[in-house]
Amino acid sequence: MEGVQRLISQYFKSSRKELMIGGIGVSELAEQYGTPMFVYDRNILLQKYQSLRNALPAEFEIYYSVKANPHPRVLQFFLSQGLGLEVASAGELHMALQAGCPPEKIIFAGPGKTMAELSLAIQKNIREIHLESFTERERISFLSRQSGKKTRISIRINPGKEAQGGAMQMGGKPSPFGIDEEKLDEMLNLVLQDSYLDLQGIHLFIGTQILDHRILLSQYRKGFEIAERVAQRIPGPLRIIDFGGGYGVPYFKNETALDLTELKRELELLVAEKKRSQLFQHTQFLIEPGRFLTAEAGVYVARINDIKVSKGKKFLIMDGGMHHHLAASGNLGQIIKRNYPLAILNKLQEPYSETVEVVGPLCTPLDTLGRSVQLPEAHIGDLIGIFQSGAYALSASPLGFLSHQTPAEVWVEDGQHSRLKSRLEYQY
Ligand SMILES: *Cc1c(COP(=O)(O)O)cnc(C)c1O
Repeated sequence: MEGVQRLISQYFKSSRKELMIGGIGVSELAEQYGTPMFVYDRNILLQKYQSLRNALPAEFEIYYSVKANPHPRVLQFFLSQGLGLEVASAGELHMALQAGCPPEKIIFAGPGKTMAELSLAIQKNIREIHLESFTERERISFLSRQSGKKTRISIRINPGKEAQGGAMQMGGKPSPFGIDEEKLDEMLNLVLQDSYLDLQGIHLFIGTQILDHRILLSQYRKGFEIAERVAQRIPGPLRIIDFGGGYGVPYFKNETALDLTELKRELELLVAEKKRSQLFQHTQFLIEPGRFLTAEAGVYVARINDIKVSKGKKFLIMDGGMHHHLAASGNLGQIIKRNYPLAILNKLQEPYSETVEVVGPLCTPLDTLGRSVQLPEAHIGDLIGIFQSGAYALSASPLGFLSHQTPAEVWVEDGQHSRLKSRLEYQY
């Protein structure tokens, strides 16, 4: 599996026979914390964050999108690096505050925010709320008037056809997210007349898992184009353009990593050009990535609990599965089910000798995490690792399905390890 080799040489360099995470052998971690478990390595988070920071012009602020991995330690790590947080529910807002995030570094997007959620965001005085509908504008206006103060908002825009891309396209078609570009003027009329709304800028988020920097750039150009129109209509300066997240990571064969060098080069040219305009003299640029920052930092580790052969096919049955990691089973909205990079973590140097199905313990054929995988000869007790499991893994999985134990979450930092308290553990 070339994907596994690439990941190991990039992020787990000290590995020989077995995977070393943050310099610690995975079997030691499994002994200590039990399986299944997620292991998060702080140094990989740092490596990913720095690579992105270096690729962006200084004018760009980064807000981490909490839904990719809301664990408090992950949030605290990003806060310690100076990032803000992008939240999409009252729960995430509470977690951001509890992790120590100052309200002025929280932005709140997402469709269908309730009155209670909006009220909380207004009361906490966060940096801005992203308007996703006309109803939301009315609600925010109403609540602001009640509390007697203005609320900072940005308008999330569902752009016309030009800006598309990524695995999940979110522009140019009907969408529950944001205001259609065609209705932007109508929305601006309402917002600009409303003395309780303080318009900061615009927000676009068009696609996730984008691996082509040219798609990001065309999205940003489109963002600037819309922002120019808005900036010309408002009395004060346009303060914020939030370009969204969407930075992808290569999971599968034939996928290549984002070209951050080219992105940087072209983004610097674009920003320099736009900064010459009077309209953007006081504008801050934001991005809000999730996946790119956390995916590689997490490994899901499960133990083989049974092995059986059925009609010529060999099944490795693990003690973990899709209830902890829906995305790796291919059931989180993927059109084609492909295997995440996967290995027997205690047999990294053994030759591949068999083709197997790697499955979890749930009573459904959906619970397959590796289809026709080439692996060394496996035995009961071996540790299977699923790489790139730091984003949209635990937080995006049907934990309640079949009522198995929740996985341990382990934090590794320069050879030290500790069990993370999981907010998700059930009480029996
Ligand atoms: C999910 C989400 C993100 C993060 O997307 P990634 O593809 O993980 O970078 C950013 N902004 C909003 C509004 C989102 O819903």
